[in-house]
Amino acid sequence: MSFFRSGRRPFLIAGPCSAESREQVMETAAALQKLPVHLFRAGVWKPRTKPGSFEGVGEQGLAWLREVKETHWLPVAVEVAEPVHVELALKYGIDVLWVGARTTVNPFQVQRIADALRGVHIPVMVKNPVTPDVDMWQGAIERLEHAGINQIAGVHRGFTGYNTPGGNRNHPNWPIPIELKRRKPELSIFCDPSHITGRRDAIAEMSQRAMDLHFEGLMIETHPHPDAALSDAAQQITPAALEQLLKKLVLKNEYSADMTNGMELEYLRQVMDSLDTEIIDLVARRMQISGEIGALKKAANMTVYQPERWREIVENLTTRANGPSNLSREFIISLYEVIHHESIKKQLAILQGTPDQNIK
Ligand code: PEP
Ligand code: MN
Repeated sequence: MSFFRSGRRPFLIAGPCSAESREQVMETAAALQKLPVHLFRAGVWKPRTKPGSFEGVGEQGLAWLREVKETHWLPVAVEVAEPVHVELALKYGIDVLWVGARTTVNPFQVQRIADALRGVHIPVMVKNPVTPDVDMWQGAIERLEHAGINQIAGVHRGFTGYNTPGGNRNHPNWPIPIELKRRKPELSIFCDPSHITGRRDAIAEMSQRAMDLHFEGLMIETHPHPDAALSDAAQQITPAALEQLLKKLVLKNEYSADMTNGMELEYLRQVMDSLDTEIIDLVARRMQISGEIGALKKAANMTVYQPERWREIVENLTTRANGPSNLSREFIISLYEVIHHESIKKQLAILQGTPDQNIK
């Protein structure tokens, strides 16, 4: 029986982004002990995007985690990014390790960790790589499997992007964890709504979405004083807020039948909803760019409508539609007529200095 399948759904991982002090770690653990938390998390080595940020307390944090385990009977997990991290985590009796998104993206590093784990029996969670690459995620998991690790869970924490939809920190890109599950039906997959959203107010909704998509667990960053957190302050919630979130979470059918049967109605609808959100965000972005072009045309004293340019757009789109996208020429032309018309309206309004709605 895998450690990750023990207890009831969702398998809940909670704890601070970073262990900051003994008091902070113990205070969080004391509060989380009262909730249905399966695993306490805290990073002690933090892979920060920019230098000069808080990079974790290092080895001393492992001693605090050991104290959590001894005092509160909560299994504890830490992120490892180097073989020496593995060695130290094992020395302090850490129960579960996780490989972070910035490590999963590097096969050399994953292999070094896998080699350090050869002959060790410990459950490991593998976060998705920062890039939307399902093969790379699967590859990292398989490097660990080949090293003999047989209790593995994937953690979906979203993908780095530019202009991510819905104001999230990362792009959820749901089809990727779903595809991973299709390829590896035995793998437990958890969702990390803290890193996907990057903001406290969106975590509950993202958690519900993950439950509706039959994810088996949640990893939620929890801090007794989130605003004062030394890393990821905006996305951490208090243990009390976590309790509220759990009370509101609606669990539909057990995951097993649905997800292994593949893409069922509910789940396809969820994927479709998330695609629709992306389409709207992209159309909005296109309109914004159109406005910027309008301003440039105005400054250059150019006409809004340039037939040659429109012909070129239609040509490019229909070539693409007929080729890789497999959409009909008529459909693409009618779709783009609507979009182009709206864009022209916007640019005319800019040129004439009138509100959009006055132009039909
Ligand atoms: C974390 O869990 O705090 C973390 C660094 O996550 P990720 O690897 O998903 O960025
Ligand atoms: Mn974090």
